Amino acid sequence: MTISKWRAELKRGEVSARELVGKYIERISQVDSSVHAFLDVTSERALLEADRIDKRLASGEPLPPLAGLPVAIKDNLCTKGVRTTCSSRMLDNFVPPYESTVTERLWEAGAVLLGKTNLDEFAMGSSTETSAFGATSNPWDSSRVPGGSSGGSAAAVASGECIAALGSDTGGSIRQPASFCGVVGLKPTYGRVSRWGLIAFASSLDQVGPFTTCVADAAEILNVIAGADHRDSTCLNVPVPDYCADLLKPLKGLRVGLISECFDQEGLASSVKSSVLAAANQLEGIGAQLIDISCPRFNDGIATYYVIAPSEASSNLARYDGVKYGHRSEGGETLAEMMAKSRAEGFGSEVQRRILIGTYALSAGYVDAYYKKAQQVRTLIRRDFDNAFKKVDVLLTPTAPTTAFQSGAHSNNPLAMYLSDLLTIPANLAGLPAISLPCGFDKAGLPIGLQLISNVLDESRLLQVAYQYEQAAEVMKNCPSGEFIP
Ligand code: GLN
Repeated sequence: MTISKWRAELKRGEVSARELVGKYIERISQVDSSVHAFLDVTSERALLEADRIDKRLASGEPLPPLAGLPVAIKDNLCTKGVRTTCSSRMLDNFVPPYESTVTERLWEAGAVLLGKTNLDEFAMGSSTETSAFGATSNPWDSSRVPGGSSGGSAAAVASGECIAALGSDTGGSIRQPASFCGVVGLKPTYGRVSRWGLIAFASSLDQVGPFTTCVADAAEILNVIAGADHRDSTCLNVPVPDYCADLLKPLKGLRVGLISECFDQEGLASSVKSSVLAAANQLEGIGAQLIDISCPRFNDGIATYYVIAPSEASSNLARYDGVKYGHRSEGGETLAEMMAKSRAEGFGSEVQRRILIGTYALSAGYVDAYYKKAQQVRTLIRRDFDNAFKKVDVLLTPTAPTTAFQSGAHSNNPLAMYLSDLLTIPANLAGLPAISLPCGFDKAGLPIGLQLISNVLDESRLLQVAYQYEQAAEVMKNCPSGEFIP
């Protein structure tokens, strides 16, 4: 199901919003005990909202663009009156008194909240296994991970439990799970979308974006969520174009750069490499010009990220002290003991690891050697991209080095886990928009993701290239069957 199909069915009066939303609630009750994409399902609220849309339809009122659209929201986005946990014991009982800007814009556009989706605790992870409320499984093969940290949102879209979902991407958390689950995932330019009400992980990297089944739907969602917000001073005050307007524009003459550093990675699976290169050739077939590009600092992204992101996280997570909000330990004689105990009980081990790395990197004796050095390398990575975009319009890489891995495969090896974001992190460090979309399947029938990166605020071009490729390649036409793929 796509947004345009949904809208057409509703307008023609073939089905009511209640019937359509009901179908998704039914689907969730059928499959989510196995997939576990959702932490909370808000059926009652969804049906009430659907009734409201039906009334408006009956009275002949013009409907907003996403009227009745059932969406799922990553559980690190605040939803007023609806529990928001970040998949952490720390926020187990947190019910936000306010709504995030992105969700507020979705509701204003008529979308309907189906529920909150699972994630790695505080969005730290690449497999959705560090959730304090249990892991999500990959809808293609339940013995595998859906990717992370927005694994719940990706799995919910892939298994047909919703039409679209929101996630957040700090180092790849939209694109990598989109790649593992065979759906489209878009990370907008840093500052294109408001972060107000997104529970902060690493504030200079975090960005909200959509998961959808097709590129046109990603454009539709971006149209609604993008744009200035006075409550987020890092949100850019530049006009929002109609992201659907250029999708059909032919690619003739468009220059697509293949980042050479990405294709001779040691850990790059051969099936991923060949599928992504085949996609590049297909783009050439529809008018694009392929150019080899070098970004010498690309592979330094991961080391840079794992200094900057934990540093920012250690600062952002200092607010969970058992006093202002979140879990509070009953034990402890002194205030300091109570805080320490609350944090030890409330945070899982990956979150604690990041806080330790971050506070270490920011400590007086080390801040120059680690944090400032990482910021300098970040600038060099950004410069590589600036140079690349003098020669090409869009860059192309695989989204992840492999397809979805087995659950537990990297649970005891954080470094191996961190490497799954090798190809997505540089776009976050440079603040660039990037999209992942399916480009094929490996021998096991698991989806492979293609990543496209464009220059700052050039989402229109990114979506145009992705859309043209999607239409030409028809990857999902030859989709093998998955365990929970409708
Ligand atoms: N996997 C990366 C990490 O663990 C990225 C997470 C994200 O983008 N939120 O930090």
